[in-house]
Amino acid sequence: MQRGSNLPAVGVYNQALVFDLIRRSEEGLSRSELAERTGLSTQTLSNVTRRLANEGLIEETGKVISGPGKPRTLLALRSDSRYAVGVHLDPAVDTIVVVDAAGAVVARTEQTPGGADASPDELVGRLGDSVRSLIGEARLPAERVLGIGVAAPGPFDRDAGRLLNPPLLPAWHNVPVRTELERVSGLPTLLEKDVVATVVGEQWFDAGQELADAMFLYYGAGLGLGLSVSGAPVHGRTGNAGNIAHIVVDTEGPICTCGSRGCIGVIMEPRMLLAQAGHAAPPSGTGDARMQLERLSSLAAAGDEGVLAALDSAGRHLATAIVEVNNLLDLGIVVLGGPAWSRLGERLLPVLDHWVHTTAVSTSTEPVHLRPSQIGADSAAVGAACLVLDDALTARASRLMISR
Ligand SMILES: [Zn+2]
Repeated sequence: MQRGSNLPAVGVYNQALVFDLIRRSEEGLSRSELAERTGLSTQTLSNVTRRLANEGLIEETGKVISGPGKPRTLLALRSDSRYAVGVHLDPAVDTIVVVDAAGAVVARTEQTPGGADASPDELVGRLGDSVRSLIGEARLPAERVLGIGVAAPGPFDRDAGRLLNPPLLPAWHNVPVRTELERVSGLPTLLEKDVVATVVGEQWFDAGQELADAMFLYYGAGLGLGLSVSGAPVHGRTGNAGNIAHIVVDTEGPICTCGSRGCIGVIMEPRMLLAQAGHAAPPSGTGDARMQLERLSSLAAAGDEGVLAALDSAGRHLATAIVEVNNLLDLGIVVLGGPAWSRLGERLLPVLDHWVHTTAVSTSTEPVHLRPSQIGADSAAVGAACLVLDDALTARASRLMISR
């Protein structure tokens, strides 16, 4: 539990901490409950809650009688007080969402990604138009929209807010997404790797704060693993942490673009699973990833034996990769999500669960828990919006450090 401080210099931190507790509570919290949980004095707490109410972030929602004494006045989140836009750039489909201050999606759209021959101006302009019309159609007051979060596969240059050369997004190579999208939309913009956005999104909804030490498997057009250690998402030195695609789990497996055999990334590719099941799939790079996934999931739903066997084998290999990472970091919880997971997870989950718990590779002294994403297929887009909420509204002890 994070504790507050009564020093005036950390007022902003206290405000964010109190807001965090209120928004995570189901029905709201009384001032006395907040005082107990934060350790803040009654006076400080009263100042903090007044400021939050003045900013429209919280409101009094009535009184609750519990035991003797005065009834308690509950303070609760005003979910319509702020909004944030989340964009997920993906090879199969670009997803754009608007979430409210509670993280609930209030508007959503998707568009086909720009072609490889589109200019950066066209790409960014199209994205800006979609964001603008989504905010307009939802009739949201512009002054309550905090900004845009963009989630994209790496690698990217965090300082410059520029995508470098994501293999899955050729059209976006070297595009300075952050500054350009800020320019066309007029909204502050953050750019983050998709798996990191997913971590932040899942933690936003983690009412019990159980995901402090956890990993987040993102299974979409690519495979990534976001990490959280001691409550903080792992960005890494350059913001590009979270790549597991080239962990070799099957030395007899298919050849990967890196030249090795049996990397987990290539094993999990829908086109590779189709091929393994004896169904024709277009060669690498020429197929429509979304179409391949649709085909794979409908064959699985129809009980195609080849596909089910391919998924079972893939699930076993995926378990090995996850357990290896867990052996290294001792995290204990694996959250599973992304568009491919949404389609294939029903078959993969029991297989994964079985092998994670029985493989001799595991050094964990306690069971590793697997759980599906609370957000689902849109975890990267919603996570990207939560980056903006998190940046504006969350209390982080690291922000109390004096920077020089
Ligand atoms: Zn590889």
